[in-house]
Amino acid sequence: MEVEEYCCYCGTCSNVCPEKAIELSDNEKVEIDNNACIKCGICVKACPVGAIYGL
Ligand code: SF4
Ligand code: SF4
Repeated sequence: MEVEEYCCYCGTCSNVCPEKAIELSDNEKVEIDNNACIKCGICVKACPVGAIYGL
């Protein structure tokens, strides 16, 4: 899973991920742990700007 540059850093994806695989870093980057990710797609659907891809 990857995040587009236009991510607005709202934090929604991190809040909805059932595996806690998404973290927001101090430098305003969204980091997805692809080892923990189960590719459920919940973050993709929840992102308000459609910034997550790679399912
Ligand atoms: S696809 Fe599912 S498990 Fe993977 S980062 Fe998104 S919400 Fe988390
Ligand atoms: S939900 Fe979308 S816009 Fe919000 S932090 Fe996650 S990737 Fe960025």
